[in-house]
Amino acid sequence: MPTCLITGVTGQDGAYLSRFMLEKGYRVIGMMRRSASSDVVGERLRWLGILGQVELVDGNLIDLASLIRTVQTYQPDEVYNLGAQSFVAASWNQPIVTGQVTGLGVTNLLEALRFAKPDARFYQASSSEMFGLIQAARQNETTPFYPRSPYAVAKLYGHWMTVNHRESFGMHASSGILFNHESPLRGIEFVTRKVTDGVARIKLGLARELPLGNLEARRDWGHARDYVRAMWLMLQQDLADDYVVATGRTMAIREFCRIAFAHVGLNYEDHVVTRADLIRPAEVDVLLGDADKARRVLGWQPSITLEDMIAEMVEADLARHRARLSA
Ligand code: NDP
Ligand code: GDP
Repeated sequence: MPTCLITGVTGQDGAYLSRFMLEKGYRVIGMMRRSASSDVVGERLRWLGILGQVELVDGNLIDLASLIRTVQTYQPDEVYNLGAQSFVAASWNQPIVTGQVTGLGVTNLLEALRFAKPDARFYQASSSEMFGLIQAARQNETTPFYPRSPYAVAKLYGHWMTVNHRESFGMHASSGILFNHESPLRGIEFVTRKVTDGVARIKLGLARELPLGNLEARRDWGHARDYVRAMWLMLQQDLADDYVVATGRTMAIREFCRIAFAHVGLNYEDHVVTRADLIRPAEVDVLLGDADKARRVLGWQPSITLEDMIAEMVEADLARHRARLSA
């Protein structure tokens, strides 16, 4: 039975990737940082019904010793580095910790592997945010980067350290440049989940308004369930490489709101208000990915439409709030 190690196992992608890997027959080691609320942080794994099947180990991306010990102990065949301070807006308030975890954390893990399991295959969770102020209408693996937040700057460092470990030491290290991907397990601070949760609360009479920032920004949104499959496919290739993963369709936040509110028979214009303090110091106005390489080389393509995903997210948030109300 092959073994995989997943950092960021308590996050959205960590949960979906864990389930995917368990279904593929892997032993799944999930690294999580120590928390005083450990009963709550396993919530996403519990939601997917796999909490008992993932072997959880203590570790932190900024603690090299914990990474070396984990790699030495479990000797993973594949390592997926999903751990990060992943919220762009928070990265202006905590730029240093974002650099330490989202940036230097990648080097820590790569060095732990170089020391204790150099033949492990490595996946780095890179981000379309690295394109930032876009230099081409559709972004692919050859598009120049222009990061626009401390988060994106940290991700860019992690991306290049991954490429550098591949080129310097021959490590099987791949960087997946994933565009935004969402699900009912998306963190509630991200705009999609904030909207679907808001729709559910307004529909059930728990709120009347939904405050948002810039409604004109556009994103290329896919479903996390599709995107974790691409991660795995990258590590099954003979040669490590970098891949853009995207749907090739971009939509404004405003339009996302319209669809989500319409799903429950509401008009978003009656409820969405814009608030200046939710506007970012520097914005990424539009992202649109070209995943042609992933299609050709990995045979990957998305299977879930944006409309179906929005419906799934709204329904999940309605169910959550109804359960709370009846408890
Ligand atoms: P989440 O925010 O849901 O999960 C992040 C995970 O990182 C959590 O498990 C968190 O743990 C963990 N983490 C945070 N700090 C540390 C640390 N110091 N040491 C170890 N683990 C830590 O993100 P997603 O699942 O959405 O994304 C997964 C990865 O993909 C991230 O690296 C993200 O930046 C990247 N990415 C995501 C995209 C998206 O659209 N979702 C797009 C492109 C890239 P805890 O639960 O304790 O907070
Ligand atoms: P990001 O692409 O990783 O930054 O993902 P987010 O979901 O956090 O933000 C996507 C876009 O939505 C950005 O352009 C934000 O400026 C915009 N946005 C507008 N209002 C909000 C809001 O209230 N919260 C968040 N998180 N984003 C918002």
